[in-house]
Amino acid sequence: MRKEFKVGKTNVRLIRGDITNMETDAIVNAANSSFMGGGGVDGAIHRKGGPKILEECKKIRATEWPQGLPTGKAIITGAGNLKARHVIHTVGPVWRGGNHREAELLVQAYQNSLRLAVAKGLKTVAFPSISTGAYGYPVEDACHVALEAVKEFLEKKDSLDEVVFVLFSESALEVYAAEAEEIF
Ligand code: ADP
Repeated sequence: MRKEFKVGKTNVRLIRGDITNMETDAIVNAANSSFMGGGGVDGAIHRKGGPKILEECKKIRATEWPQGLPTGKAIITGAGNLKARHVIHTVGPVWRGGNHREAELLVQAYQNSLRLAVAKGLKTVAFPSISTGAYGYPVEDACHVALEAVKEFLEKKDSLDEVVFVLFSESALEVYAAEAEEIF
């Protein structure tokens, strides 16, 4: 199955891997609204990236988002000891059966992350499968929303060179690849 697609000038690539190893300009963190660290991909990023990322998060929280980061919004920090240059922290929706604006909020999480990357002049961005771990969004539904959200964004803005989806399991990669074949 194909793992590389093109939307305008931007490559969209699907790989299996650990997002903390990516050397992209930014990696996206599936954070929670406290954005003070957590489990899953969030825990892995802070563990491997070191305390600098959390320090920056704390400053942003104190100044810009004292109540926490709302679902669908995104912020950007450095990447500490990681090979990526920046971490974009966004909050995906918790799955509550599908009738609580989950899809709309998941689109916002992807598109606000991309918007921030473009605003900062970044060229390459890696995403995990937001919301499909602890937040319980079924991966078959989430991948459709994720790929459509990225496609819609890239059709309007073509300043990015590459968007990579870094899937943690072979099964998630297969689900994304099958869906990408439909969408791109
Ligand atoms: P959420 O709370 O948004 O569901 P999780 O971190 O629990 O976030 O899970 C999101 C997805 O990230 C899941 O599919 C999970 O398997 C995956 N994941 C966990 N650790 C990593 C990692 N190091 N790199 C890439 N993906 C990861």
